Amino acid sequence: MNMLIIGNWKMHGLAAALSEVATVAANVPPAVDLAICPPFTLIERAVRAAAGSRLAIGGQDVHAAPHGAHTGDISAAMLADAGASLVIIGHSERRADCGETDAIVLAKARAAVAAGLTAIVCVGETEAQRDAGDAETVVAAQLAGSLPEHTDRVVVAYEPVWAIGTGRTPTLADVAAMHAMIRGTVGPAVRILYGGSVKPDNAAALLSLPNVDGALVGGASLTAASLLAIAAAAPVAD
Ligand code: PEP
Repeated sequence: MNMLIIGNWKMHGLAAALSEVATVAANVPPAVDLAICPPFTLIERAVRAAAGSRLAIGGQDVHAAPHGAHTGDISAAMLADAGASLVIIGHSERRADCGETDAIVLAKARAAVAAGLTAIVCVGETEAQRDAGDAETVVAAQLAGSLPEHTDRVVVAYEPVWAIGTGRTPTLADVAAMHAMIRGTVGPAVRILYGGSVKPDNAAALLSLPNVDGALVGGASLTAASLLAIAAAAPVAD
């Protein structure tokens, strides 16, 4: 299975940023799967900028309902209609800012898969939970509560909350231990991404760990040069 590298642009990106999408699209390395999740407003234009390339475009959130009175929300069918092929679900910023529970994340992930999208389900402990020795218990509970039936269109992103946007990462041993636990839960078919301050200079070490099948990248995905450098660091499967 190819490594999967996904850029999460969060609430960054106006039309001028589409040139970064075009540059990434023109330079996707062979044998690496690459995606960018821009804000909703850029999805359709990003899909056009990536047309004919191996760069996939995704959303950063989705509503669980197929349609209805949900002002400001976007359904999975709407994402697919705009050309998205994946969606990030349950990012820790949404779990914290928008009160998304495991049950909400599960419903969103099921809706995404039903609409033909790949669901990138995020899990991860806070710093206090890690310091208390509870990291694996917390993540196991999040997996049990928020991961839909495993299919090849479900991906887990392990993102320690305290590593997101901070420049700090767990030790390689801690990442390997958490990914081994997750692998034991999800089996061999589900890709497991690491996320949290992945940069060009630490990507090779993180991506070479057992059971790390790719990365979810925030800040370092905003420029083509940086995202492509991370993708170039991904080991190629045999
Ligand atoms: C993220 O937004 O999912 C993320 C991992 O951010 P960063 O790479 O900036 O830590």
